[in-house]
Amino acid sequence: MPSKPINSDNWRAALGKNGFRVTTAQQTLIDIFAHSEYPLSAEQAWDVARQSRPKTGRATVYRMVEKLENLGLIRRVHGYQGCSHFVPTLPEQMMLFICMECGRADYLDRQPLDDLIEQSEHISGRQITESRLQLFGACADCKQDA
Ligand SMILES: [Zn+2]
Repeated sequence: MPSKPINSDNWRAALGKNGFRVTTAQQTLIDIFAHSEYPLSAEQAWDVARQSRPKTGRATVYRMVEKLENLGLIRRVHGYQGCSHFVPTLPEQMMLFICMECGRADYLDRQPLDDLIEQSEHISGRQITESRLQLFGACADCKQDA
């Protein structure tokens, strides 16, 4: 998906910098998370991994998910399927959209929102340091089917 600016080489570099040696099994997991169009739980990532590497251990997958989350390379999607699914962490200027029908994740430019926040800070004198907006709905394909 061209709208997804994820480069798994950067993930490898980040892991290397933090002293992790990336095994082939882990490389498979990195690629699975970096290129999935859908939020994935560790369990689902394990299923996908076993399609190409049947011997992949469950514990390997769970440890890798924890590592990627701790390094901030993936993040949990809150308010979706028990908060157990992960998507790649995006550059700050993007926000996440999830289709509740098919589960596909998409990314939107959040510049207009940032403009709004800045404007509101200006008017109210508040300082806003964080926003966690996540959008849910139906993607164009699912909306058409309905
Ligand atoms: Zn959809």
